[in-house]
Amino acid sequence: MNVERLKQIQSELPADVTLVAVSKTRTKEEVDEAYQAGCTIFGENKVQEIIAKYDKNYHWHMIGHLQRNKVKQVLPLVDMIQSLDSLSLAKEIEKQAAKIEKNIAVLVEVNISQEENKTGLPKEDVLDFIAQCKESFPHIDIQGLMCVGPNTSDTVYIAECFEQVHQLFLEAKKQYGDSIRWLSMGMSADWKIAVKHGSNMVRIGSDIFGPRNYQI
Ligand SMILES: *Cc1c(COP(=O)(O)O)cnc(C)c1O
Repeated sequence: MNVERLKQIQSELPADVTLVAVSKTRTKEEVDEAYQAGCTIFGENKVQEIIAKYDKNYHWHMIGHLQRNKVKQVLPLVDMIQSLDSLSLAKEIEKQAAKIEKNIAVLVEVNISQEENKTGLPKEDVLDFIAQCKESFPHIDIQGLMCVGPNTSDTVYIAECFEQVHQLFLEAKKQYGDSIRWLSMGMSADWKIAVKHGSNMVRIGSDIFGPRNYQI
């Protein structure tokens, strides 16, 4: 893990932008090191990894596609699920959250670039989906939107995508007020663009921990 780089990122991030350190594929020792250096929220995309590295003193966010059969295991461990992408998943989260009487903070994942390998709802469906969740699932606290930027070096296109999600976020905020508070966008390669377009939560992995051996 690169403490210098982390300090650099922390100094460049505006004060109102929250950093999620994406610790997928990293060891518990690396997570501990990042915690010592000031990271408090860790993002993971696999339930097994959260279980393996779990530490109750840290905050954990599920940021990857969540299978319904893993909801029960992960729910007690995480502070936020950033990757709600279907009604069937929402139903399962509600069911398991009700059982353990936990209100869980959730972000709706938007598939903005319509790339086939990306999860998330099409942006046209997002507002109706939020309305349905707010109406039907009392244990799900929808707090905003998450998206993964397009996989391209075309910064103009990346900015366009982020701005579309930003507009959607503002629309949701208009309807639901301050319960909609998080716009989670931006990773190592594009977080500066994301912050310019309204992101207040960035998810940074390789820029903090170094390159991953494999892409997930
Ligand atoms: C891996 C991942 C990140 C972090 O990516 P880096 O390029 O390593 O910063 C952020 N968000 C999601 C959903 C991811 O899967």
